[in-house]
Amino acid sequence: MKYTINTIRVLFLGLFVILLVNDKLMLWLVLFGISLLLALFFGRIYCGFMCPMNTLMIPTEVISKKLGIQSDKTPKWLSSGNFGWFALVVSLIAFFFTRFVLNKNFPVLIVWILASVLITIRYKPEVFHNLICPYGILQKIFGKFAFFSEKVNEDKCIGCKLCETVCPSKSVVVSPINKKAKIDSAICLQCTNCQQICPTKAITYTLQR
Ligand code: SF4
Ligand code: SF4
Repeated sequence: MKYTINTIRVLFLGLFVILLVNDKLMLWLVLFGISLLLALFFGRIYCGFMCPMNTLMIPTEVISKKLGIQSDKTPKWLSSGNFGWFALVVSLIAFFFTRFVLNKNFPVLIVWILASVLITIRYKPEVFHNLICPYGILQKIFGKFAFFSEKVNEDKCIGCKLCETVCPSKSVVVSPINKKAKIDSAICLQCTNCQQICPTKAITYTLQR
């Protein structure tokens, strides 16, 4: 499963590069718009499988860990949780102003790709995914109502917390009270890391309600 998922990610990254080179990144925005609708049904599959930021953040995190420069902390200026909205508004203004006033294409997504990699060199991926990414803010709204998502079967969960250790967005948390894991579909990237590592096969991609 891991190999297949990584192949899909690389293919979408390749598609992104092709569109970038051919000055057709508007088509990527169309794909993103479609992915928001898909998130209502299948969760944030854009984030887990298609997003060039996530695809580049995965090896960046590995390197950061190996170099021992990853911090467990979250920058204080992000603690309110509102920065993502600010990032979204600024990105939209920059995009529309440069496109319709200056008649130029401002590469908003490229700026955010660079930011995602730089931030992940220092901080855990959940910092960018949950607190900074302007695209993630929109995906979160739609992902919350997803019909299908990764879900924990509490009867099978033994509370080992392995799923927590591999989750890039801190969307799976083991309750300190009943020692059962629970997944928040609004911030789950549907990456299947937890599903792959769970020793009791308690996690499956299934109907939410
Ligand atoms: S890895 Fe599986 S068994 Fe362990 S806490 Fe997570 S869901 Fe429960
Ligand atoms: S809960 Fe599981 S599928 Fe969702 S982001 Fe975390 S590891 Fe990935």
